[in-house]
Amino acid sequence: MPDLITLEPGIHFFPGGVNIGILEDVYGKCLIIDTGLDSDHAKKLLKALQSWNLTPAAILNTHSHADHYGGNALILQRHPEIEVFAPPMEAAIIQFPVLEPLYLFGARPIKELQGKFLMGKPSLAAAIPQTGLTQIAGIPLELISVPGHACEMYAVRMGNVLFASDALFGEEVLQKHPLTYCVDSRAQKDSVRKLQALEGIEVTLPGHGNPCHDLKHLCETNLQSLQTTTDAVLQALDTPATIDEVLTRTCNLLNLHMHNPASVVLNRSVVSAHLTELLELGQVGQQVTGNRWEWMRL
Ligand SMILES: [Zn+2]
Repeated sequence: MPDLITLEPGIHFFPGGVNIGILEDVYGKCLIIDTGLDSDHAKKLLKALQSWNLTPAAILNTHSHADHYGGNALILQRHPEIEVFAPPMEAAIIQFPVLEPLYLFGARPIKELQGKFLMGKPSLAAAIPQTGLTQIAGIPLELISVPGHACEMYAVRMGNVLFASDALFGEEVLQKHPLTYCVDSRAQKDSVRKLQALEGIEVTLPGHGNPCHDLKHLCETNLQSLQTTTDAVLQALDTPATIDEVLTRTCNLLNLHMHNPASVVLNRSVVSAHLTELLELGQVGQQVTGNRWEWMRL
């Protein structure tokens, strides 16, 4: 049975495919940071909280990917009195989950794109537009804006502990997944640099992977991985190609194999993000010719 792991007094996480952060107040209540992929995961979380005599006070979703909010519905069913908070654009997707496969596919998504990895159960979510020092359900914390992996995303700092969410991936995760998801690779790199500049962080918990005691090094590894992807996308453009052709070539270069439509739309989104960055750097161009939308190295 998985259990909470304590990082600092009153600051825990529930390990799993996605790490869930738990911040205690002094009255036995807690803020839940992200809720995992589905109801099963949320049930296990609630059991663990119960064994610690902790009651949920609120949920903060760092961003709107289904593996980070998929447990909301079950927790709200058991605790209808609590509120869910999220960055504003992300709150919209959490309330209308079809937006995620809709923007990835570009039209009403086929059923293969409506599985639980791309669409969680909907829940109401209140937008938190302000970052910086704040309180959620009376629990003090600092929200740090780290867009790039998603349109908007918040990392959470409590003293010397940083919940980085998917602004940072654990090193073991980067090795397994060379094409980490992002919608804006330039913003993702900027967000990593922003976290790298933080002083006084002793423990960093990425959204996926193990806690890390060397934030600067973890940031460096993430930056290198992002740059490897940018370089692979540029290398893939040895001759002009459509985005789908760049995707195939990039996957071949990184020895990555896609097996279903969900992995194609996710990875195509990553390739598009890096193409946009390269376009804005003046290293690639694009034009529509002969009914083909081609991208080329400049
Ligand atoms: Zn994510």
